[in-house]
Amino acid sequence: MQKTFQTEVSQLLDLVIHSLYSKKEVFLRELISNASDAIDRSRFEGLTDAAQASDSDYTVQIIPNAEANTLTITDNGVGMTAEEVEKNLGTVASSGTKRFLQAVKDKANAPELIGQFGVGFYAAFMVADKVEVLTRRRGAQAVQWSSDGLGTYEIEPADDDTAYGTTIRLHLREDAKEFTDDWRLREIIRTYSDYIAYPIMLCPDPSVKPEPKKDADGKELPPEERVPEQVNSMKAIWKRPKSEVKPEESNAFYKHIAHDSEDPLSTIHISAEGATEFQALLFIPRTAPYDLYFANAKQGLQLYVRNVFIGDDIRELLPRYLCFMRGVVESSDLPLNVSREMLQDNQIIRRIRKTLVSKILSELEDMLKNRPDDFKLFTTQYGRLLKDGCYSDWENSDKLRELVMFPSTKSEDAATLTSLKDYVSRMPEAQKQIYYLSADTFDAARNSPVLEAFRKHGFEVLFFIDPIDEYFAERVREYDGKALRAADRGDLDLDDPEGKNKDKDGKPAETDEDRKFAPLSEYLKKRFEADVKDVRLSKRLTDSACCFVADEYGVSAHMERVMRAFNQPVPKTKRILELNPASPLIEKMLGMVPDASVADDLGDLADVLFGQAQLAEGTPLSDPARFNLLVSRFAAR
Ligand code: ADP
Repeated sequence: MQKTFQTEVSQLLDLVIHSLYSKKEVFLRELISNASDAIDRSRFEGLTDAAQASDSDYTVQIIPNAEANTLTITDNGVGMTAEEVEKNLGTVASSGTKRFLQAVKDKANAPELIGQFGVGFYAAFMVADKVEVLTRRRGAQAVQWSSDGLGTYEIEPADDDTAYGTTIRLHLREDAKEFTDDWRLREIIRTYSDYIAYPIMLCPDPSVKPEPKKDADGKELPPEERVPEQVNSMKAIWKRPKSEVKPEESNAFYKHIAHDSEDPLSTIHISAEGATEFQALLFIPRTAPYDLYFANAKQGLQLYVRNVFIGDDIRELLPRYLCFMRGVVESSDLPLNVSREMLQDNQIIRRIRKTLVSKILSELEDMLKNRPDDFKLFTTQYGRLLKDGCYSDWENSDKLRELVMFPSTKSEDAATLTSLKDYVSRMPEAQKQIYYLSADTFDAARNSPVLEAFRKHGFEVLFFIDPIDEYFAERVREYDGKALRAADRGDLDLDDPEGKNKDKDGKPAETDEDRKFAPLSEYLKKRFEADVKDVRLSKRLTDSACCFVADEYGVSAHMERVMRAFNQPVPKTKRILELNPASPLIEKMLGMVPDASVADDLGDLADVLFGQAQLAEGTPLSDPARFNLLVSRFAAR
């Protein structure tokens, strides 16, 4: 039956077929990786044939045929049902491939990205103009699939005596003849698939009869017997000396274990000696998985003990904030019968974990220093987890504080970030604290009236845009001996950072200006009694008429929104309304207070003022309709 590929598959195939990618050989890495996964699954499901007595019978066979110009890859893994074939080979199911399509906005980049990403099964069409798949899952009808990659495919039931597993036959293009050459195939397999845990056998095609050789007298010699030959060493890549592992090899290994289609952002090869000996090969994935923050997402590393695979998802090897790391750890110090419970409270595991964390943090320090673009990418993917680490891992908190990044008043856009170290290095002499402003977006922070005085004084303010940032501020509290201080909290006087003008209760002494504006302050305090705790003159504002700030110890407006977003009960906190004595509007309102004939107007102006403070803070207006009406009324005067 003929069927049409999903549009995305056709797009993908079009890119693959027409790409001028020079390392087309990676198609074999992809097909062997799929075969190995299929065997993993078969073992996992405990599907062993009576005939297949032991694991050692699992193989991937590579069968070149130079005469017919075909290459066949066979595995005895799980196989696929007809529905699975349709889904897996007719649609873009893997998230990696979707990402690839998103990344290839510009066709010209396709070749390079194919190599970096790998496009799974469809890579076969780089070298083949026809691909046939014969597959059978235990207990299901065998299926035959074929396509020339040009929009449609054929799918039919196949013979009942088909063996379990999958056979993929590539009819190679004229310019892909090299992939029937034994020597070339050996080279490719050793480069990209050496670590595969099952034997990859290079097999002669039974249908090809080699040319009979003749001896010196012209007599035909008996045909040379060609036997299958295992090509991969199956040697654990993490146990080889670092200097001998080529980046292509470790990248291919990463893609295989992480089921990722991109190269990793960083690779960390560790061979620890001394009290605890172990080897590890760790990777930072370039893109965080979508389910990174879900409790049951795949996390943790693979663990081997003396060549024996212990488990896949061993979370005890790393703290939670490094859950994005992928890779393998092998130790010969642990007992072979190590159980999950044992892992949780094991001295050796603890020591390994400590070394792993310190190596990962050194790698990140190095990335920050020497690969700033990569570090930026890292921060967008995992920066939030590092902030979490700053307070969940006190032992490494100092190192982690060097690695967290924030936008600030010095940033041109939300993506330009600064480290705390750089922030401190820019602090003017008079500035003693590190200031931050929490807001929902970069623009809301940047336009906040609260920043006016900071700008005037040349004090930089960090923007805390991520909901986690405020927790960070609360728990981490300081960097390099300098306190983290909210720009919109407490009564702040940048001219008097050390509080010299405050009395012994920390209250600033009353000034003539305070006394002058007292009638207006009292009026507003009374009018907004339900929402406002205090009204006072501001040291933060230079242009705007007013703003809200939080009490020194109260919950900030941003924190309230965060709590609401997480469905937490939000205590009603009253704000402090700060007025700018230099604002003509405030001056005008002061003059209106004693004049009973303009009482209604004064009330309306006060409500506009209140609305403006709400807007600037990012709080929804209490009464948007009335606010609009008042603004248009005053504008029309
Ligand atoms: P990915 O391997 O990234 O998921 P592929 O396009 O390579 O993407 O393969 C799609 C799916 O097809 C696989 O996830 C797997 O379920 C199935 N598949 C591919 N090759 C085989 C095979 N040899 N045996 C069984 N299933 C396979």
